[in-house]
Amino acid sequence: MIARSEIETAVAELGAPPYRARQVYRALTRGLAVDFEEMTVLPRALRASLAARLTASALAPVEHWRSPAGDTEKALFATRDGHGVEAVLLRYPRRATVCVSSQVGCAVGCPFCSSGRLGFTRQLSAEEMMDQVLYWARLLRAEGRRVTNVVFMGMGEPLLNTDETLRACSLLNDPEGFALAARALSISTVGVVPGIDRLRREAPQVNLAVSLHAATDDLRDRLVPLNRRFGLDVVFAACARHVRATRRKLFFEWVVLPGVNDGDEQVAAAASRLRRPLYHLNLIPFNEAGGGFRAPTRDEVESLRRRFVAAGVRCTVRRSPGGEIEAACGQLALRRLGR
Ligand code: SF4
Repeated sequence: MIARSEIETAVAELGAPPYRARQVYRALTRGLAVDFEEMTVLPRALRASLAARLTASALAPVEHWRSPAGDTEKALFATRDGHGVEAVLLRYPRRATVCVSSQVGCAVGCPFCSSGRLGFTRQLSAEEMMDQVLYWARLLRAEGRRVTNVVFMGMGEPLLNTDETLRACSLLNDPEGFALAARALSISTVGVVPGIDRLRREAPQVNLAVSLHAATDDLRDRLVPLNRRFGLDVVFAACARHVRATRRKLFFEWVVLPGVNDGDEQVAAAASRLRRPLYHLNLIPFNEAGGGFRAPTRDEVESLRRRFVAAGVRCTVRRSPGGEIEAACGQLALRRLGR
């Protein structure tokens, strides 16, 4: 979508009254308009003049996939400067969750993740993140449904793009616009401590999820290279500050990599940190995406869950859908447009 400041500037330069800018913003975020032609609340001449100056969307949809079961869909978009960005829709009986990318590629370089293996290209703006949500919101509206949750868990590390991610949260949450409750938003981080601290101060209602994946620094240094900068002690200190201030549940994620992070030593080390009120661990079965790791069997995941529970950790297995369309966690690989 267009930045609000750009809308205001264009409206002012065209000599239209300022309330027209508000109408454009509402038509984009509430009315889910794709272009100015749809904004029938505006005079025809103003619509045409705005269309000549601005493009309503910052992203252009390129391709759309649906999983055979129909519960997961993925869209590939092109940014105006020609990069590929992917977003996923997860359909549940009563919910529709959009998984948003926050960067083109990712600098963290987790070896089990397709985005990480491709490296970092650039930050996405809040408007580019909004456009991913608006795309799915339009599709769902045609079915009489709406987006109920947004998770910043797609390509990129959202808290290495904190300004724009928090701005996207405000846009999604804006009661004048898209009006999605802050509690319906979740940010997933590998543990960028300054970002966690900002989230606590600036958006305490937004859910926080920390991708842990290992509970000893030596293993986590390998699986989540940013651990060398923000080690387990400082990450957990930030988590404790977060829970103390927000009194909200804090989620931890653990991608299950058989033979790598499912040993008893890891379970014991994780349990000593996770046996706390409001801490909850989600196990995510790894989806075969290369990198020299293999996907766990159902029994391996269940065995790990049971060992965590026996060690006193609140732990569940999270559905990781969409493997067939490479939409599952860690599989949002960049694609070369026009290939
Ligand atoms: S798992 Fe997340 S932080 Fe790690 S490389 Fe992939 S996108 Fe980046």
